[in-house]
Amino acid sequence: MSDDPAEPVADRSAELLSAFPGVRVDPDNAAYYSGLLERRLLLNQCTGCETWHHPPRPICPACWSTDVSAQDIQGSGTVALVTILRQGPRQPGVDYEGGHVLVAVELDEQSGLRVPGTVVGVPAEEVAVGDRVQLVWTDIGDGVAPRPDFELAQ
Ligand SMILES: [Zn+2]
Repeated sequence: MSDDPAEPVADRSAELLSAFPGVRVDPDNAAYYSGLLERRLLLNQCTGCETWHHPPRPICPACWSTDVSAQDIQGSGTVALVTILRQGPRQPGVDYEGGHVLVAVELDEQSGLRVPGTVVGVPAEEVAVGDRVQLVWTDIGDGVAPRPDFELAQ
């Protein structure tokens, strides 16, 4: 984690509503979704006790402080859960034909801090609990925000 003050995320509230149709964007999660548009994975961290949490909430779950802010994560972690989906709702960039991997990645920032995602670049069956992974960004298409994915670490 860097000691540098975080670069503030731009206010994109109007853009968010069109960039994430079907998502309930609100003041608590606006920084998270704004970050996605900038290829930044921002999670909330408490300014007082430095505890991270996700999904974004306005109150620290550890000390109940309201002084929480969205910070960049390093993007490295360990696969904690793996599910292979063979069917599901149609989504841009998701192919269920060969199995779509759904993972929970426990980030290196903090024990228990997990984000959902997929692992790209390898067949679904090759992803296992305990694999080290690194954040990558996948372009889905015009008008759709890039998706934070993971790839197996080298
Ligand atoms: Zn706290």
